[in-house]
Amino acid sequence: MAKKYDFLVVGGGIFGISAAIELARRKHSVGLINPDSIPHHLAASTDISKAVRMEYGPDREYAEMAEISIRRWREWNAFFSDTLYHETGFLMLCRKPLKSVDQQYELKSIETVGEMGYAHEHLDKQQLKARYPVVHTECFPEAAFNPVGGFAESSRIIEKLATYAASIGVKIHEGQTAEFLGITHGRLESIRTREGHQFTFGHAIIAAGAHTPELIPDLKPYIRATGHPVFWVRPADTVPFMSGNFPVFTADIAHTGWYGFPALPSSGVVKFGKHAQGLTLHPERDERRVTDSEVADFRSFLKESFPVLANAPVVYTRRCLYTDTLDGHFWIDRHPDIGNLTISTGGSGHGFKMGPVIGEMTADVAEGGKHNFSDRYSWRHLEANGSTADAARHMQ
Ligand SMILES: Cc1cc2nc3c(=O)[nH]c(=O)nc-3n(C[C@H](O)[C@H](O)[C@H](O)COP(=O)(O)OP(=O)(O)OC[C@H]3O[C@@H](n4cnc5c(N)ncnc54)[C@H](O)[C@@H]3O)c2cc1C
Repeated sequence: MAKKYDFLVVGGGIFGISAAIELARRKHSVGLINPDSIPHHLAASTDISKAVRMEYGPDREYAEMAEISIRRWREWNAFFSDTLYHETGFLMLCRKPLKSVDQQYELKSIETVGEMGYAHEHLDKQQLKARYPVVHTECFPEAAFNPVGGFAESSRIIEKLATYAASIGVKIHEGQTAEFLGITHGRLESIRTREGHQFTFGHAIIAAGAHTPELIPDLKPYIRATGHPVFWVRPADTVPFMSGNFPVFTADIAHTGWYGFPALPSSGVVKFGKHAQGLTLHPERDERRVTDSEVADFRSFLKESFPVLANAPVVYTRRCLYTDTLDGHFWIDRHPDIGNLTISTGGSGHGFKMGPVIGEMTADVAEGGKHNFSDRYSWRHLEANGSTADAARHMQ
C-alpha cells in the first residue's frame, strides 16, 4: 500500500497540477495520480497553445481572474527562464461596426476591461490592412486590439509544472487510473486504481477533466464531455503569421465560434479552433474524430477570412473535450455528502488560462477555506437552458 498523503490529487491536467503545487507549497504531503504519462495525450490541457484573454464580455469576475492569471504567467516565464506564455496581444475582429448592437461581446469586453484600466486600440479597415495584411478586411472591417493577453504553450507548461511539482515534493504516480472510490459513512477512505494500486489520504481532489463525472456520478446531471475541433494549418509564408506580426484573435467569435493563434515559433503551424456548442461525447467510449463536414466548414471560414490560407494544407486535426458545466462556469467545491473530497473541474473550454488562480482556489477550498472568487463555482443545481457563462462562446 502506498504512503498515506495529506492530499491525493486525481488528474495531472492544469486543474490538478496547479492545485498539487499550491498544496505542496503550503507544506502538505501531496500525491498525484494520472494514467499513462503527464501531459496525457488526450487531456484538454495537452496542446500547443491556449488563448489567454481578459475579454469576457460584461463578466468582470472572469476579467479580474484573467488579469491575476496573466501576472502569474509572466512570473512563471521568469521563474522557469522560458517563454511559456507569449504576450502577443489579443485582437477581436468584427464583421459589423464595433458600436453596433451586433458586436456585444467585443463592446462589453472593451467596456469591462476599460473600467479596469486597460485600453483597446480601435483599428479601422485601413489600419487593420496595414498592420495585419492577412486579414480579409472586406469580411472584418473593424477590430479592437488589447496588447495585454496572448497564448500559453499548454503542453510545455504542464511538463514544466510536473517537473517543478516533483521537485517540491509532490509524489507523481504516472500510469495510475482512479477507478474505485472507497466511501464509508460519508468519508472517502481510499482510491483503488485500474492498475490495482490503493491510495489513502486525508483528503482527495478529483480533477480528472472530462472523466470527472464518470468518477463522481452525481455530477452527471450538471457536467458532460463535449468535443470541439482544432485545426493546424501550415502557411506557405509563415512570416505574416509569426507572433509580433500576428496576435491571438477572435473572428466575430460570439456569432461564429472561430478563433486562432499566431504561428508557433517552433513549428510554423497556425492553430485554429471553434468555441461553440460541440458534440456531447463519452470520454472513453466515443471516437474523437474531426468530421469531413467540419473540415469543409473550416475551409470556407479560411477562404472568407484569411484568403492567403484558403489552400494551405491542414496538417493536423483533433477533437478535444471540454468538461462542460451546464452554465459554463467552473466547478470547484467540496462534495456536499463526502467531507474529505473536493471536486476541481468544469473548465468548459476556457479554464486553462486561469490555471494559476484555479490552483490557489482549489487548495483554499480543499483546506476548508474560501477564495475570493470561489462562491460562483460552488456545488449547485443546474438546469440546461442553452446559455453559457463565456460571452465569447458561440451557442446556437
Ligand atoms: C479544443 C479546446 C480548446 C481550448 N482552448 C482554450 C483556450 O484557448 N484557453 C483556455 O483558457 N482554455 C481553453 N480550453 C479549456 C482548457 O483546455 C481546459 O479548461 C483545461 O485544460 C482543463 O484542465 P483539466 O485539468 O480540468 O483537464 P485535463 O487537462 O483534461 O486533465 C485531466 C487529467 O485527468 C486525468 N484523468 C482522467 N481520468 C482519470 C482517472 N480515472 N484517474 C486519474 N487521472 C485521470 C487525465 O489523463 C488528464 O491528465 C480548451 C479546451 C479544448 C478542449
